Amino acid sequence: MRHAGEVPGLKIPENIVCVDCGGRCHLQSYPDPDEGFMPGDIVAYRCEDCLDRWDVEIDEDFVDPGP
Ligand SMILES: [Zn+2]
Repeated sequence: MRHAGEVPGLKIPENIVCVDCGGRCHLQSYPDPDEGFMPGDIVAYRCEDCLDRWDVEIDEDFVDPGP
């Protein structure tokens, strides 16, 4: 049973640390409304400091551990 507003699939972090400058990168991709993020999907992040774009492939290790 699915709750309203809950997206199935993997939950991934909205921010990651930039490999180049250590700045904060923001998630640019949005999950499929039906399937959510799935392993093997490519998501894009953009760094707020150096404006580099990072494409990250989702796998089981790349999930938000949550609070
Ligand atoms: Zn950066």
